[in-house]
Amino acid sequence: MPGKIRFAPSPTGYLHEGHLLSALYVWAAAKKWDLKIHLRIEDHDRSRARPAYIEGIREDLAWLGFHYDSESIQSARNDIYEAALKKLEAKSLIYPCYCSRKQLLAENPQSETGEIVYQGKCFYKTRDKRRETREDLNSAPHNLRFIVPDKFIDWHDMRLGDFHENPKHQCGDFTIRDRDNQWTYQFAVCVDDIDEGITHIVRGEDIRNSTARQIALMEALGHTDRPLYLHHPLIVDSNNKKLSKRELAHSLRQDREAGVTPEKLFGRVCYKAHLTENDAPITLMDAISTIIRIL
Ligand code: GLU
Ligand code: ZN
Repeated sequence: MPGKIRFAPSPTGYLHEGHLLSALYVWAAAKKWDLKIHLRIEDHDRSRARPAYIEGIREDLAWLGFHYDSESIQSARNDIYEAALKKLEAKSLIYPCYCSRKQLLAENPQSETGEIVYQGKCFYKTRDKRRETREDLNSAPHNLRFIVPDKFIDWHDMRLGDFHENPKHQCGDFTIRDRDNQWTYQFAVCVDDIDEGITHIVRGEDIRNSTARQIALMEALGHTDRPLYLHHPLIVDSNNKKLSKRELAHSLRQDREAGVTPEKLFGRVCYKAHLTENDAPITLMDAISTIIRIL
């Protein structure tokens, strides 16, 4: 069976240079390891996803020359998420959390990365009632949280090496469905990676921190074939700072409408990612080959 990798943009805006770099890494990994490529449109956040951005992703990828083998969109997969939730509920690994954002901030410590580390207040509150029916649980607005095991997870990143992390310390029990009944990124991504048979996960370093909790959740869902992970560096500005919101808001589409060619964009993005010596236009194949050499 050939492996499978995914490119998983969120349609909350048009694709920008950060996405382009991610796509180059994904297509390079696919070529290097002979993987099928799956496009997953991560529109779990219904308040921010827009049909124009969804169509924009497909159009921009086609214009740039990125071809893929299959596609899915999260908003069409509610039944699959429901089934996964039932599986976790059957193992008593889910509880409702009624804390407001304000309470969460006031009552819980934050990790060194500034994340709230949920201490389990509502777990203790509802512990004896965990066998309640879903109807009872649905009475007041609440998040559903997943009980993360309190254990260190050892995992390997093909670029960054070994990690030894305990999600209980990184974030505590985390939300899988929010009070607006939206599946969270963490939950949807795990269910999809399992269900879609993803064997390789190549994505930006900004999400590296989510890996241990995703492994914990996939294991709780009974998935033992861990994907291989590679987190790539992000594009930085000339001061080595993350790109600002404004720079990231500048879309590939704007460049395209201004007459910029894909080759010029590949050259620019590879240069900004310190993959090449100058920003001269290069072909997609050249950009991919450049990345293959460092994978
Ligand atoms: N949807 C995420 C993003 O646009 C990617 C998630 C992932 O690759 O796990 O940044
Ligand atoms: Zn709570």
